[in-house]
Amino acid sequence: MEGLMMHYPLTTNTILEYGNSAFPHKKLITHLPDGTRHEYCYGDLYRRTKQLANALTKKLGITKGDMVGTFAWNHYQHVELYYGIPAIGAVCHTINIRLSPQQTEFIINHSEDKVIFVDATLVPLLEKISAKLETVEHFIVINASESFSTSLPNILHYEDLMKGQSETFKWPELNENDASGMCYTSGTTGMPKGVLYSHRSTYLHALTILSPNAGNYSNSETVLLIVPQFHVMAWGFPYMCLLCGSDMVMPSSNLGPQAIIKILQEEKVTKANGVPTIWMAVYEEMKKNPPKKKLMLKEYIVGGSALTGSLIEGFEKDFGIKAVHAWGMTETSPLGTASRLQPMHEHLNPDEKIKVRAKQGIEFPGIEMRIVGEDGSVAPRDGKTMGELQVRGAWVIRSYFKTHNRENFTEDGWFRTGDVSTIDANGYMEITDRTKDLIKSGGEWISSVALESALMAHPKIKEAAVIAIPDKKWSERPLAIIVLADKKETLSHDELKKFLAHDFVSYQIPDTYVFIEQVPRTSVGKFDKKEIRRLYGEGKLT
Ligand code: ADP
Repeated sequence: MEGLMMHYPLTTNTILEYGNSAFPHKKLITHLPDGTRHEYCYGDLYRRTKQLANALTKKLGITKGDMVGTFAWNHYQHVELYYGIPAIGAVCHTINIRLSPQQTEFIINHSEDKVIFVDATLVPLLEKISAKLETVEHFIVINASESFSTSLPNILHYEDLMKGQSETFKWPELNENDASGMCYTSGTTGMPKGVLYSHRSTYLHALTILSPNAGNYSNSETVLLIVPQFHVMAWGFPYMCLLCGSDMVMPSSNLGPQAIIKILQEEKVTKANGVPTIWMAVYEEMKKNPPKKKLMLKEYIVGGSALTGSLIEGFEKDFGIKAVHAWGMTETSPLGTASRLQPMHEHLNPDEKIKVRAKQGIEFPGIEMRIVGEDGSVAPRDGKTMGELQVRGAWVIRSYFKTHNRENFTEDGWFRTGDVSTIDANGYMEITDRTKDLIKSGGEWISSVALESALMAHPKIKEAAVIAIPDKKWSERPLAIIVLADKKETLSHDELKKFLAHDFVSYQIPDTYVFIEQVPRTSVGKFDKKEIRRLYGEGKLT
């Protein structure tokens, strides 16, 4: 028997309507790239999003199912795009500004973006590839200065587009399973893969992450969104803030530790998100130059790479600021787990408590997780048995965009994360390793396979293997192991870096190269990454 409750589609439009109805006075503050501050309220966001919807449909001819790209920092216009694009049934495709030109070109052509909204300061990155973009009809430039000029064709300015547009717009009927947003994630081999979110998954993810066992947000918080909007929808925070009525603070490109501390102070921020690299830099800056006035920051949620116990401890002891460790992936919207202590942990000593908090934690309602061993059996929850972490749930991917490749999915419908983990008897998951051949540096992926192929294309190189080595600042950095074609030849680090700069952006290029006679291999002749990691993985260059 079917229940008799209303069919009420969970769409991003209903989030916007709610934010305007319940919290019209709440603030959205932006520290713009030029250092100026912009502030308006959720009521203004609502009205401007309606103007944007009119502009998208009437001026740009965007219709249901169209892909609309954004190439921008965190700011109020980007939030308007987060709501305005899906509101008319189009898909908000956020493009990662840190990818190489080749990857950016691939992503834009693969997704078939019809229009791209781009920050004036980021325009040079698109100019390099604009001749190769096959589907883009218009570039809309955001926050251009008086002296702005570009070689991009068919440009319009954001505020010109909005000018004169009506503040009323009737949202179309949307199905909650319609696509609302898209992000590409790094492929281990080959090009990035598209993850297409639905209105429903976006809504449920945002609603869950505000809850007490997760982010614990409410209308008494002021939240700084450090995670970029071009990175897994800023972890869903632009949607979450309207659901719980937190004030939202956007840093745009002001992401250096001093700039972040200044914003935390000026805006009396109480909560924030970000990757460990950022929080490590903020911590070190605060140690060097302790803020004169105590920050209002109580807690920050941190994920994307493993958070160390020492950072949790340092921040708390020195500044009374609490870290909450979370885990997630682009494929899981992204947040799936978080680690908070429970009353059952009260008897633990301080070190034991830090150990629990440094785990990736328990899953959110709406997500299920299991550990599967090499033999295909589900591992016991004993905190010791390792296996692949698999997840399923209301905001987990069921298929990549435009591909039939099923290698990341099990036959019984779970998503294979590529993370190796344990789960303890209390349900706390801990990542111990990774099966995917990728390096995560400062929250951004670097493909070891892509670096190996590029290096092996060098005429003086016979073989090259790339692994991750731990790094205090960036969490991980790539290390390249090289076998020269002719032992008598030499290759300097600078030559190698210059060579790689043709295809890779600077953060992707290894800082360290080790020359050896032979790459260790497995019984079937593949590079033995486990052995390479054992020999060189701690950064020991023997
Ligand atoms: P995100 O942008 O949210 O980091 P990605 O899809 O780029 O998402 O990366 C997801 C991967 O990052 C995970 O599969 C895992 O390998 C790693 N990761 C994410 N969070 C953590 C964490 N808290 N600890 C360790 N690794 C993490």
